Amino acid sequence: MISTEEQEELKKAQTDKELKQVFKKVASKNPDSYFPTKELRELGYIRKNCESCGTLFWTTLKDRKVCGDPTCSGGFQVVINNPSQIKLSFIGVWEKIV
Ligand SMILES: [Zn+2]
Repeated sequence: MISTEEQEELKKAQTDKELKQVFKKVASKNPDSYFPTKELRELGYIRKNCESCGTLFWTTLKDRKVCGDPTCSGGFQVVINNPSQIKLSFIGVWEKIV
C-alpha cells in the first residue's frame, strides 16, 4: 500500500498532526490506489459529507453528520501529542483525515 520510504516517514511522525501530513502526501500521489475504500466498507465504514465544512469523511456511525474536525464537531478535541496516536491503524487514521 505504501513504500518503505513512506513507512519510515510514518514511523518518524511524532504527533497526530505529522502523521496526517505524511498520509496526505502519500494519498495525494495516487488517491485511487491508496484509498482503502473497499477495506473500509468491509469494516462497516460509510463515507459521508460533513454538513459543516463539506469534507468527505469515513465513519461507522450512519447518523453522524459532521467530520472529526473540532470546528465541525462542536469543539471536540482529539488528543494531540499523545504517542499512542501513532499506533493508530491505517484505517483509523484514514477515518480521521479523509
Ligand atoms: Zn467538517
